[in-house]
Amino acid sequence: MKSTAHLFPEQARAALTDENLQAALRFAKGGFIDKRAAAVARYPDFETLRERGRRIKDHTLAHLDVYLERFAAAVEARGGHVHWAPDAAAARSILLDICRRAGARTVIKGKTMVGEEIGVNAALEEAGLEVVETDLGEYIIQLAKEPPSHIIAPAVHKTRAQICKLFAEHHGSPDTLREAPELVAEARRVLREKFLAADVGITGGNFLVAETGTVVLVTNEGNGDLCLTLPRVHVVLAGIEKLVPTLDDAATMVRLLVRSATGQDISTYTTFITGARRQDEADGPDEYHMVLLDNGRSRMLGDEFREMLRCIRCGSCLNHCPVYNAVGGHAYGWVYPGPMGSVLTPQIIGLDATKDLPNACTLNGRCQEICPVKIPLPDLLRRLRALQFERGLIRGPQCWALRLWGWLARRPALYHGLTALIARLSPRGAARRLPLDSGWTQSRDFPLPQRTTFQRAWSRQAKEERRHD
Ligand code: SF4
Repeated sequence: MKSTAHLFPEQARAALTDENLQAALRFAKGGFIDKRAAAVARYPDFETLRERGRRIKDHTLAHLDVYLERFAAAVEARGGHVHWAPDAAAARSILLDICRRAGARTVIKGKTMVGEEIGVNAALEEAGLEVVETDLGEYIIQLAKEPPSHIIAPAVHKTRAQICKLFAEHHGSPDTLREAPELVAEARRVLREKFLAADVGITGGNFLVAETGTVVLVTNEGNGDLCLTLPRVHVVLAGIEKLVPTLDDAATMVRLLVRSATGQDISTYTTFITGARRQDEADGPDEYHMVLLDNGRSRMLGDEFREMLRCIRCGSCLNHCPVYNAVGGHAYGWVYPGPMGSVLTPQIIGLDATKDLPNACTLNGRCQEICPVKIPLPDLLRRLRALQFERGLIRGPQCWALRLWGWLARRPALYHGLTALIARLSPRGAARRLPLDSGWTQSRDFPLPQRTTFQRAWSRQAKEERRHD
C-alpha cells in the first residue's frame, strides 16, 4: 500500500471536518471501550494474565530463531510448504507463484493486516486474478476502493447510509437505508458464490504454535473457515513475530486478544489449522502453504523497538487514543494507525517518511495501561522523537527551541532560577499568540505560567504537611 503518512497534518485536518467520518467515529467509540472494560472486569485476574502474556512474548522473541525452526519443521512434517519472505516484494512474488502453479483465477481472502502491509490485492489483480475480500468490513472497503481504517474493524469509518449506497451501486440492490442484518444477508449471498468458485484461499494467522505447527485463527464471521476449507489451495500469511511456543501459550494469548479487541469472553470462531486435508478427512484443501514475513521485524528484534514485536494486533490502543478517535485511521496514511501504528510504521517504511506520526500523540499513557501485552507505547514514541531530533529531521524554530530547552535542562540551577523568574515576571492568564508556535494558538489559548513553579509549590506543600503531622 502506498504511504501518505508524510501528509498526516493535512489528512488529520480534513478528517476533523468530514461529517460522515465524525459520525461513524462517534458511533463506534464507546462500544469498544465499554465492552473491553466489562470483559476485563468479568475475568478473575486480568493483570496476571497480561503479565503472563508479556512474558510469553518476550521469551519467544528472545528465542525466535529456535521457535521458527521448530514451527517450520512441524508444518513440513504434516505436508505443508513453508516459504520465508524477507520483505514485501518477496512475499508478493511467493503468493503470485503459488496462485500461478495452482492455475488460479479467483482468490478469496480472510482479513489479514500483513496482506495489507505487503499490498497483496494490487499485486494479484495486476497479474489478472480476481481477488475477493470475505470479511464483511474488508469487503465493504474493497467495494469503496479504500484501505482499512482500523486493524480489527476496517470499515469503522463508514456510516450505514454509505454502506447501503455502496451495496446499491455494486449489487444492484435498492438505494434505501436498511438495517444491518439485511446488509449482512446481502453480502453473504454475494460472497457465497465467490467462496464456491475460488481456487486459492489466503488467510492470516493470529498465533503460530511452534510445538505443533498449528496456526490459530480468531474470527467472528466464519469467513476465515470457508477460506481455508473450500478452495483447493490454502495459504497462511503471517509475520514472524506471531510465534508462541506451545498450545497452552496460545490459549493465554487468545484470552487476552478477544477481551482486548472486541470485549468477548471467547470469539465466535477459534480455528486451529494444521495443514492440508488428510486422506481420511472430508474437508480441507489439497495444498497448504505457510508464508512467513520478516519485512523489518528481525531488525527490530535487535534494536530499541523490540517490545513492539509483542503486539497481538488487538486494536485496543486505537480505541483508547484521543488522537485516533478524533481523526480516524486514514489520516495516519498507512496500514497501521493509532499508537501502535505510530511506532510500527516508522520501523517498516522509515522515519523520514513518517515524521509526524511519533508526534501524533498526547502522551496521556492510556494505550500503555490497556495494552494486553504491556507495550510501553508512550516511551517508544518518545524514543522515536529523540531519534528524529538526533537525525536532524526536526528543523526550524522547533529544533532551536528544543536545543535551548535541552541545554537548560542539563543545568538544573540555571533552569530552576530562570523558570522561577519567568513565573514571577510573566503576565497572568493566557496567551492568544505564541511567537515560535503559532500552530498551538490557532485554535486554543496558551495558559501562561502560574506565580510559582511546580517544584516550589510542591516542596512548600510537603513542608506544610510535615508541620501538620
Ligand atoms: S500495541 Fe497493544 S493495544 Fe495496541 S494493538 Fe498491539 S497489543 Fe493491542
